[in-house]
Amino acid sequence: MLLGRKDIYANIQRISFNDPLTGLSNRRMFEYVLDREIKKMRRTGKPLSLLMVDVDFFKSINDVHGHPSGDAVLEQIGAIIRESFRSVDLAARYGGEEFAIILPDTDRAQAVSVAERLRLKVAERQFQIGKGCINVTISIGGATWGSRDGAGDMTGERLVASADKALYQAKQMGRDITIFINE
Ligand code: GH3
Ligand code: MG
Ligand code: MG
Repeated sequence: MLLGRKDIYANIQRISFNDPLTGLSNRRMFEYVLDREIKKMRRTGKPLSLLMVDVDFFKSINDVHGHPSGDAVLEQIGAIIRESFRSVDLAARYGGEEFAIILPDTDRAQAVSVAERLRLKVAERQFQIGKGCINVTISIGGATWGSRDGAGDMTGERLVASADKALYQAKQMGRDITIFINE
């Protein structure tokens, strides 16, 4: 098969910025887009929200049902996430069983509502693994940066750290919950 220069570039781009298991963007793309959205937010003053999503008790899914079943769950969560967000949002696989979603022009109330919609969708779904199916839950930590918070000293790391802190609290509170913290 002969590939043109355009096809080769398109393939390299796909491989470099996508997560093959979930079909979502990868962490590299996430960091690039977060940086771009923060710069945009500084210019426009429009709020920017970030969700960090972590699968609850994922290690025990692997332990009880096997690693391929864990992969199947991640794949299905990837599909749910892909169908749940706007095209201006950026959903990425952040790490093993963690996902990050950038929500441009989205205030805290809107971000809480999309996070809750996602959390409930996952909780209600039957996940296919091998011959059977299981229930899975996720915990979500969120952070919003609005113009009132002082756009000047905002960085991607700070936004991620805030959402991570909220996620940690969600885990502490028993999981299958969305938490946003006030910074
Ligand atoms: P918590 O509710 O506190 O989040 O508990 P947890 O078990 O989800 O968290 P923990 O960090 O202990 O376990 C995450 C597990 O995810 C450990 C690791 O082996 C597994 N994992 C990471 N990447 C993959 C992957 O690509 N496929 C599979 N099947 N498992 C993975
Ligand atoms: Mg984790
Ligand atoms: Mg987990």
